[in-house]
Amino acid sequence: MKVAFIGLGAMGYPMARHVAGQHDVIVWNRTTEVAERHAREYGTRRAEQLRDCASQEVILTILPTSDDVDEIVDVLYPKLRRGTLWIDATSGDPVTSRKTAGRLAEKGVAFVDAPVTGGTNGAEAGTLTVMVGGKPEDYVRAGEVLKAFGSRLVHVGEVGAGHAVKAMNNAMLAANMWMAAECLLSLKKLGINLRSALEVLNSGSGRSFASQDLLPKRILDGEWPLTFKLSLHDKDVRIAASMSHSQRVASPMLSLTSQLFTAASKNLGPGADYVEAIKYLAMLNSEEW
Ligand code: NDP
Repeated sequence: MKVAFIGLGAMGYPMARHVAGQHDVIVWNRTTEVAERHAREYGTRRAEQLRDCASQEVILTILPTSDDVDEIVDVLYPKLRRGTLWIDATSGDPVTSRKTAGRLAEKGVAFVDAPVTGGTNGAEAGTLTVMVGGKPEDYVRAGEVLKAFGSRLVHVGEVGAGHAVKAMNNAMLAANMWMAAECLLSLKKLGINLRSALEVLNSGSGRSFASQDLLPKRILDGEWPLTFKLSLHDKDVRIAASMSHSQRVASPMLSLTSQLFTAASKNLGPGADYVEAIKYLAMLNSEEW
């Protein structure tokens, strides 16, 4: 298929490489040099103009937010062709996506939201899990592209459902991580060796991805890579809290987690990685990891 891939960030860059292995891909990125580098490294073609993307059979976006996606829709809109499929792999906002899908439908363009989980390692390896919201026939069509970087594709419902599940996944990640860090900080203050503590906790029922993977690398090995911006994680938790609020679900943990991540993100700035939220917890306690 002819695919336009828009957004070559930490996730999009490796994902576009996998798509280019199976389809005819043109790439566009706001910072042109990144698209040029992608074309050089992986034999993709750089779209000269953003609007050149409008003529492809499939348009795939992976940008920070749904508002950023809408800005791209605005530019491409006049040139969009009936029968095109728009796949949005952004971790976006279901409410915005449903409006976007409605607007695109007026042009005969189908829309699926298809956010991913698995991090930059999964994007590199082509082993992401993709949760798709959209019509069944559009899910099947999108699968032809998504399987290039996804080893597990799940159709979770109508448009917006993918974004909803993704936001809740990341809210759970945030809460698990923060809670594990609070417990570890307390154990540290009690003078207990954290390597031994984690050995026990990670074979116990309190374990999580955060305690098994993220926190040992940061706290024990002192590795603090930037793989996923804290500001983006904060955005996901805010979407989750707002969805829950809109359904009138009493969800104090979600609200609290959202407030903690917003405070951490504001405090640590735009260059912080998501796991650095636990540095903010340490700061609240006048501690360091
Ligand atoms: P990055 O910040 O690494 O990349 C963002 C990309 O979007 C860049 O290509 C950037 O272009 C482009 N961009 C930013 N703003 C605009 C705009 N206004 N108009 C056009 N292009 C823009 O983000 P990630 O790749 O980490 O994340 C992308 C999405 O994937 C987010 O929704 C995130 O929540 C989600 N995600 C991220 C994961 C991760 O581990 N990093 C895991 C799963 C999902 P430029 O090069 O010019 O800056």
